[in-house]
Amino acid sequence: MAAMGEDLEQLKQRIPLLEYLQRHHWTGHRARARSEFVGLCPLHEETHPSFYVNPRKNLFYCHGCGRGGDLIRLVELSQHLSFRQSVTYLLEELAPSSQLLEHTSGFYQLELHRHPEGIHYLAQRGLRDPALIEELGIGYARGRNLRPHLSALGYSLERLFEVGLIGPQGQDAFCRRVIFPCRQHHRIVNLYGRTVGAAFPHRLLPRSKGGLFAWDSVRHFPEVILVEGLFDLAVLWQEGFRNTTCAIGTHLTPLQLAQLCENRDRSVYLAFDQDHNLAGQRAAQALAQHLHQNRLPVRIVSLPDDHDPNSYFAAGATRSDFLRCLNQAQSL
Ligand SMILES: [Zn+2]
Repeated sequence: MAAMGEDLEQLKQRIPLLEYLQRHHWTGHRARARSEFVGLCPLHEETHPSFYVNPRKNLFYCHGCGRGGDLIRLVELSQHLSFRQSVTYLLEELAPSSQLLEHTSGFYQLELHRHPEGIHYLAQRGLRDPALIEELGIGYARGRNLRPHLSALGYSLERLFEVGLIGPQGQDAFCRRVIFPCRQHHRIVNLYGRTVGAAFPHRLLPRSKGGLFAWDSVRHFPEVILVEGLFDLAVLWQEGFRNTTCAIGTHLTPLQLAQLCENRDRSVYLAFDQDHNLAGQRAAQALAQHLHQNRLPVRIVSLPDDHDPNSYFAAGATRSDFLRCLNQAQSL
């Protein structure tokens, strides 16, 4: 488990026991010894208050049922959870879902190395660098085994359903998909899954897709390449184009637009798909217009017919081929 020792102390300081109790509708008043609060015990039925909380020591004790301890002990007793499950429960209180998505993504990452089909799929898409796969946190969802893993960590079925990890029939939402965690300020805000089979190709959890992918590291570059998909981003990073970010789709959220526009000195290269039906080109044109209106230098990258950056490299293009495309990019 990640949280141990010092981390547990930190967790208890970030959620003071008294605050936790009050948030969970416990009412206490100052006891005669002014350093303590007293109220009805949340752990047993009583009519006369015998539950004492010492906010300075961050401890509780009940003279009625004789139980006492720290915040984690309180959660264990009141929620009927194991120690490990109680820590998970409290981390969820601090940042709803982010701990759950962290656990899910960590599980899928381990799974990638247990099932060759995930690695095969990545190789087929031209993604071969193990260090980069690790850095991006890419995982694989085999399906049908996420639920028992998360239940053992203390997550209820309702919670998994609510977040969208489990469908209404109890099946994994990300069955047979390669998974990319999407982070914002180092915290996972969504998961993107790309099917390795015949199912609907793209899937995100029903929540915001967050800001631009890896924006914390990309925003420092004076020139930024914006692509549609995470496989485009992954192969470009693999080829050394670390200034690539991704909007996951061609439609940018207000947050993603604001991020691109936050610095007027930044120039943006749009490297969207060259679709047969011109959808990617139209989206790039519309976005370029918008960025141009915001006085951002913007260029549209043309790739050979029917290619996106991912397929272009998978078809054998080199770093210098792509550099040539960047140099030939049209400005508005
Ligand atoms: Zn009690």
